[in-house]
Amino acid sequence: MTDSVVGAGDGTRAVRAGLPDPVKHEPPLPGPVFAAHYHLPGDPTGPYTYGRDENPTWTGLERAIGELEAPGQDSVETLVFASGMAAVSSVLFSQLRGGDVVVLPSDGYQVLPLVREQLEAYGIEVRTAPTVGDAQLEVLDGAKLLWIETPSNPALDVCDIRRLAEAAHAHGCLVAVDNTLATPLGQRPLRLGADFSVASGTKQLTGHGDVLLGYVVGADASAMASVRRWRKIAGAIPGPMEAWLAHRSIATLQLRVDRQSATALTLAEALRGRPEVTGVRYPGLPGDPSHKVASQQMRRYGCVVSFTLPTRARADRFLDALRLVDDATSFGGVRSTAERRGRWGGDAVPEGFIRFSVGAEDPEDLVADVLRALDEAAT
Ligand SMILES: *Cc1c(COP(=O)(O)O)cnc(C)c1O
Repeated sequence: MTDSVVGAGDGTRAVRAGLPDPVKHEPPLPGPVFAAHYHLPGDPTGPYTYGRDENPTWTGLERAIGELEAPGQDSVETLVFASGMAAVSSVLFSQLRGGDVVVLPSDGYQVLPLVREQLEAYGIEVRTAPTVGDAQLEVLDGAKLLWIETPSNPALDVCDIRRLAEAAHAHGCLVAVDNTLATPLGQRPLRLGADFSVASGTKQLTGHGDVLLGYVVGADASAMASVRRWRKIAGAIPGPMEAWLAHRSIATLQLRVDRQSATALTLAEALRGRPEVTGVRYPGLPGDPSHKVASQQMRRYGCVVSFTLPTRARADRFLDALRLVDDATSFGGVRSTAERRGRWGGDAVPEGFIRFSVGAEDPEDLVADVLRALDEAAT
């Protein structure tokens, strides 16, 4: 990356992130390299030997993500994975051994309880505490790894990354932050002291609901070497087509994130004015319980708004009545989605709890659709 891009704004950085130097007659973003193996006469030296270890299309995407997560920090290494969970598992299972202690959030991503079962099956002690109030601080003693998810999904609580990272490091404990909801344009965990920033690229990073992807960014070379080794062992690698689509999508990341977070704030404010809606949460909303800490460490507050309707039936009627919003899980896409989160079980949320992912529609159209659907659900 050229120095002019290091010092640039987020939009400039996003459109150029990870691009190779210009080569006459080559496209600006070279197409996906479909290769199970590469020509390799003589001694087998890298970078490109076998397709499970390395691929030039991943290399471009890894550079792009690294430039966004840790601009100007050339020593930072990025690895891409087949999904967010592949990335999450690669850190947990490469860093922890039987007898180690790991601290997870009690209110994190819904697959974490399954991960916990698997960690415990390998003899790893798992402690949990809520995200809110930095409660994970209380259970750090003797831990090898602290896993933070902020803002938490789906409750949108926020913890103080810098404070937790300092306390963890004082205990000799590594720190990983799930940066899925914030995206690298919302928050930079490594700069706040974390050892790993881990995320699902399936959500807002790629933003079109058509790719599963994950990544790990880390500054510690030996820790990252074991994450890389885990990827090789597990084979949890992205296809070149997915990696290329992800790289292309990152060019519009700043446009999407700015639009979606501005509309999310507008929607949260509109919801707060409705008597039947309770518990509106958005970290960017002044007065939200997360806002103070969020404003210290986040530059953008994401596209997810959560709130509660009085009953399950009312929530179902509301979702049915929406015309511009798909009833679907996941979040971060350019098309708004919403779901009644309680339908999955597992999250500690009321029956009428809605997780709403704000897309890139015109804000006035989206807010009008939501208010009309709320009116229809009331009758
Ligand atoms: C979706 C998600 C994951 C898992 O990502 P996949 O790409 O679905 O495997 C992990 N953490 C958070 C916070 C998520 O929202």
